[in-house]
Order: sequence, then C-alpha cells, then structure tokens
Amino acid sequence: MFDTLSDRLSGALRDLRGKGRLSDADIDTTAREIRIALLEADVALPVVRSFIARVKERAKGAEVSQALNPAQQVVKIVNEELVGILGGETRRLALAKEPPSVIMLAGLQGSGKTTLAGKLAKFLGGQGHTPLLVACDLQRPNAVNQLQIVGERAGVPTFAPEPGNGVGDPVDVARRGIAYAREKQYDIVIVDTAGRLGVDAELMRQASDIKAAVQPDETLFVVDAMIGQDAVATAEAFRDGVGFSGVVLTKLDGDARGGAALSVREVTGQPILFASNGEKLEDFDVFHPDRMASRILGMGDLLTLIEQAEQVFDHEQSQKAAQKISTGELTLEDFLEQMLAIRKMGPIGNILGMLPGANSAQMKEALAQVDDKQLDKLQAIIRGMTPAERDDPKIINGSRRLRIANGSGVTVSDVNDLVNRFFEARKQMKQMAGQFGFGGAGRSAT
Ligand code: GDP
Repeated sequence: MFDTLSDRLSGALRDLRGKGRLSDADIDTTAREIRIALLEADVALPVVRSFIARVKERAKGAEVSQALNPAQQVVKIVNEELVGILGGETRRLALAKEPPSVIMLAGLQGSGKTTLAGKLAKFLGGQGHTPLLVACDLQRPNAVNQLQIVGERAGVPTFAPEPGNGVGDPVDVARRGIAYAREKQYDIVIVDTAGRLGVDAELMRQASDIKAAVQPDETLFVVDAMIGQDAVATAEAFRDGVGFSGVVLTKLDGDARGGAALSVREVTGQPILFASNGEKLEDFDVFHPDRMASRILGMGDLLTLIEQAEQVFDHEQSQKAAQKISTGELTLEDFLEQMLAIRKMGPIGNILGMLPGANSAQMKEALAQVDDKQLDKLQAIIRGMTPAERDDPKIINGSRRLRIANGSGVTVSDVNDLVNRFFEARKQMKQMAGQFGFGGAGRSAT
C-alpha cells in the first residue's frame, strides 16, 4: 500500500546520490519533497511537520561520518525518524501474570475487529495459548454468528449469549465469558465489541462499560488503514472515550495511501501491535516499526547493513571498495578482502538476508545455498590464485583452473563456479550501487 509514498521518498533521497557534500539548500529541497510525499500519503499534518523538522535539524547537524557519504547519512536519518513515528521498538502483547489475560477489541464497524479476533486467536493458538473468543457485539445482526464462524476457522471456541433472548447485555456477556474461561482454563480471552459506522456517544459508553467491567490487559483499537485522514480523528475519539493500550492496523493490503499507519501512533502515543493485510486468517503479523520503515523506504534492511559495515570496515578500504563496486572494477583480491571483512559481521546468511530484495523467491533460494563452509572453500580457491589472476580473473583459462583446483584441494567445477559467480556478483553489485547510491563521491571530511 505504500507504493506511491515509497517511490516518492526513494526518489527524493535518490536525488542526493553522488553529492560529496550537502548544502543546507540540498537538505531543504529534499525535506520539501519528503513533506509532499507524506502529505500525499495522507499523513496527518502535525505529524508531517514534526517529522520534517527533526529530519532537517539532524541532517544539517550531522556529524561527519567515516563510513557513510552524505546521501547515505540522510537516508539513515529519514529511516530512523520513520521508525520513531511508527513507534520505535516492536511492542509485544502484555499478558496477565495470572490467566486468563483479557484482550478487548474496539473500533468502528467494518474496521475488521471480528476478522482480527480470529486472526489473533489463531496466532496465539500457534504460540501454545488456549484462546477463547467472547461475542459482545450484540448490535450488528449476525455479528455473533460471524464470530463463531471465524472462531471455527481458527480452531478456537466462542462464548456467545444464548440465541432467542433478544438483545442481551454486552457487559454481562463479557463478564460471563471471562468466568467461563477461568472455569475451563482458557488462558486468553478475546472480547469482540460492537462498532458503529461513525463515532457516537452510545458506542463509546458501551465499550467503556465493558472495559470497566472486564479490566482488560490490553485494549486494542482496530483501525482500517484505508479510511485515511479520518483514522486520526477516530483514534482520538476512542482514546478519549474508551482508552486503549495498543493499535491494530487493518487492510494494509488495500491501495490506500497509508497515512493512517504513519499518524496513529504519533497522534495517540499508543503503539501499533499488529498489522492485518488481507481477509484470510493468515494475513496478519506482529507490527515491526523498523521493518515497516524499511519497507516504506524500499531498502530492505540495507540500513542495518550500513551500520554494521560502519563498525567493521576500515573507512579507506570501504571507500575504495565502494568505488570499485560502482565502476565494476572489483577484483578477486577485493572480493576476498570484502569477504573477510563481511565475515566479521556475522553468519553470512544473516547478512545477505538484509539486502534489498532478500524476500524475493530467487534470493531466498540463493540464501539457502550459502553457508559459511562454502565461504571457507571460496577463500581457499582465491588464495590458490596468483596475484595476476586475482587482479584480472578473465585470464583464468582451463589450465589455470586445473592448477588452482589442485592447489586448493577442490574440483575444477568449484573453481568454475567461483569465477562465474564472481562475474555475476560484480554485475549485480554494479547495478545495486547505481540504485542505492553506493560508491558515490565520499564525504569530504571538512
Ligand atoms: P468488524 O465490523 O469490525 O467486525 O469488521 P469485520 O471483521 O467484519 O471486517 C469487515 C470487512 O473487512 C470484512 O469483509 C473482512 O473480510 C474485511 N477485512 C478485515 N480485515 C481485512 C484486511 O486486513 N484486509 C482486507 N482486504 N479485508 C479485511
């Protein structure tokens, strides 16, 4: 859903690429573009204002970095500020010490509460919990039945008022539901409540009565990300009228502009715990501010990688390598050097997993094939080469391959593999360098 925002933000940041130094005017132009991108994505104005102010202030006051050029540094700041407005750390459900824990769902009608009840139940069931759904939406015809159906699909039972007694009292149903859970030893109770099409006093009163009666461990405000700017007003109304401890964003799969996701946490001060992105029970996940920010910036965990590289790489060496990568002049000698440096950063699968595109099927397959033992082998092969061969791998002909293979205790096809992969990697690095601005002019340390 963040496609347009993502395109515009990456576009604004891409314009900085290759600049050796950033003037205040460069930063102002970028800030203006980011501001437009956020406003177009329906992010609430006060949120946009404070976001832009922080980015500008930090970018202008940025310390000279040893490892990052100015453009990379601005990307890093924008990313950190995005993570900040999305809530910073991932916030997990706070469950009671003594079961049952009670999770109450509140939100407008159609926001996705009932669906969420099923998703949450399935998710918690998968973690070894024994959830019980409690149907307290007694307003909407068929809501109880819908919850029962969702419960069945999730494989969890639903506590509901007996049919035929007219409209029951939701507070009473909630209380009895919890007593039932205690008696039957369900450890988490998920209370579905009624919504209205718009915010009204009666809705707030009912939700707040239920809340007072059951004292939930978590009250989750469920908000449809597609309602755009209205999300903020609705969230404020629920915060003041009922109070909540966390937010769940639904319908993130829609083609809306995503402003709700970026505003709700900042405006209400409450964290986003989960995100729903489809109608199926599996279309649901814990909300990770850092991952969401990278997704919005379209950069995988590249930033984490930049940070780790900052710690491990020697500045001059990495500038030199970046330069070579961007011009496609990387040699096997550099490859070996980089590989040794990269290995200091941790297991290779983790590192490669942080690259943009790491979620693609192709990349997953490639990752599955990489292990540290293989790297040992690669190192042995490169060490078996002469300096001239490392410098210009094109000269490695058949007889040289045989010699290298014998010398490093591997087969000729291992050597072929390495050489081919090296050429492929060099091509890809060159493309990536172009995309993300690596290897642009280094920051002048003035
Ligand atoms: P409630 O009135 O708050 O209980 O909302 P429902 O759970 O009944 O959801 C309203 C509609 O939105 C239903 O048609 C759901 O299938 C749909 N829905 C819920 N969550 C999502 C989601 O994350 N993505 C999409 N595309 N549809 C959703």
